[in-house]
Amino acid sequence: MAMKGKIVVDTEKCKGCEVCIPVCPTNVIEMSKLVNSKGYHFMEQVREECIGCTNCALVCPDGVITVYRVKV
Ligand code: SF4
Ligand code: SF4
Repeated sequence: MAMKGKIVVDTEKCKGCEVCIPVCPTNVIEMSKLVNSKGYHFMEQVREECIGCTNCALVCPDGVITVYRVKV
């Protein structure tokens, strides 16, 4: 069964380490050109094709990513 996913990033807690970027199998996350109040570039989902694999959330050292999944 295919899964469709969506992530929510706590952008204020993201420290811009970029650890999450290479582990996304569908390349839907990138670093924003914007910065949070601490001056860090934060990660954001930029395309719809998230499959909800949770890779990004698992590797994030600060646990700032929440993954939502629905069956399609
Ligand atoms: S849950 Fe998986 S597919 Fe979705 S953004 Fe994270 S790593 Fe990419
Ligand atoms: S791994 Fe976590 S802290 Fe690092 S850039 Fe990604 S969301 Fe931000």
